[in-house]
Amino acid sequence: MQVKLLEATSDPEETICTAARNDYMSEFVGEKSFEEILATVDGETVEDKKETLIGHLLKQGHFGPFEHPQATFAVKGISRSCMAQITRHRHASFDVQSMRYVSFDDVDPEEVAEGEMVVTPPSATDPEWVGRNQKGGSVDDETVEKREEIFRKSVARSVESYQELLDLGMPPEDARFVLPIGTEVNMVFSVNARMLMHVADMRAAADAQWEIREMTEEILALAADWCPLTFEYYEENMKNRKNRLAP
Ligand SMILES: Cc1cc2nc3c(=O)[nH]c(=O)nc-3n(C[C@H](O)[C@H](O)[C@H](O)COP(=O)(O)OP(=O)(O)OC[C@H]3O[C@@H](n4cnc5c(N)ncnc54)[C@H](O)[C@@H]3O)c2cc1C
Repeated sequence: MQVKLLEATSDPEETICTAARNDYMSEFVGEKSFEEILATVDGETVEDKKETLIGHLLKQGHFGPFEHPQATFAVKGISRSCMAQITRHRHASFDVQSMRYVSFDDVDPEEVAEGEMVVTPPSATDPEWVGRNQKGGSVDDETVEKREEIFRKSVARSVESYQELLDLGMPPEDARFVLPIGTEVNMVFSVNARMLMHVADMRAAADAQWEIREMTEEILALAADWCPLTFEYYEENMKNRKNRLAP
C-alpha cells in the first residue's frame, strides 16, 4: 500500500481559527488581519494563539470549523475489501479505479501467486498473527505453510479463470466476478479535517481490520504534516476513543 497527499487547503489552521472566531466577533473577519482576528486569544505569538484556540475547540467539541480545510489523498494497492470499508463514510468523496476499464489481462498468474495484484493478508504467512475474529491463537509453521499454499493457489487460479473468460470474449465488467475480494485497487479520496478525525476514530481503532488501520495511520501521519496542531492534539488527546461529532 502507498498513500500520498495530492492536494490540500493551504493554511488549514488559519482557516479553522478564522471560521471559529467569526462566530464570536461583531466585526467582519473578511476585513481583519489574522493577528486582529486572534487578538483576544491567549498566547504570546500567533502560533501560540492558534495552538490555544485549536486545543480549545477540540476540547469543547466545537468541530464545525474543522470542516473547512479539505485534503485529497491518493491510495495505491489496497484490497477491494478495504475499499468497501472506507467508502462507507458518506462525508468523503471517492474515485475508485474501474474494473470495467482497467483489466488484468496481462498479469502473470504465477506472479499473482507471489503477491502481485492481490493483497496477501498477514494471517496467510505469519504464524504469530492473531486476527480479531480468529478462532484460537497463533498457529504452528506447518499450518501457516498450508494456509499460504491454499491462498496463493486460489488467487492465481482466480486470475487464470478471469483471463480465460476474457479470452472467450466476456466483458471485463462480468469476468471480474471471479476475482478475489483481495484484488488491489487504487483510489483518490477527499475529506475535510473533521471527517478525517471521525474516520480515524472508527478505522484506527483496535476493532478495525489491519489493512484499513494501516491505511488510516498513514493518512494520519500525512495529516499531521498538513494540519499539525489539530492532528497532534488529536493524536495526544482524542485518539482511540469514539469522539462525539456535535455540535
Ligand atoms: C470495526 C467495524 C466493523 C464494521 N462492521 C460492519 C458490518 O458488519 N456491516 C456494515 O454494514 N457496516 C459495518 N461497519 C460500518 C459502520 O457501520 C458504518 O457504516 C461506517 O463505519 C460509516 O460510519 P458512520 O456510520 O459513522 O457514518 P459516516 O458516513 O462516516 O458519517 C459520519 C456521521 O454522520 C452522521 N450521518 C451520516 N449519514 C447519516 C444519515 N443518513 N443519517 C443520520 N446520520 C448520519 C452520523 O452521525 C455518522 O456517524 C463497520 C465499521 C467498523 C469500524
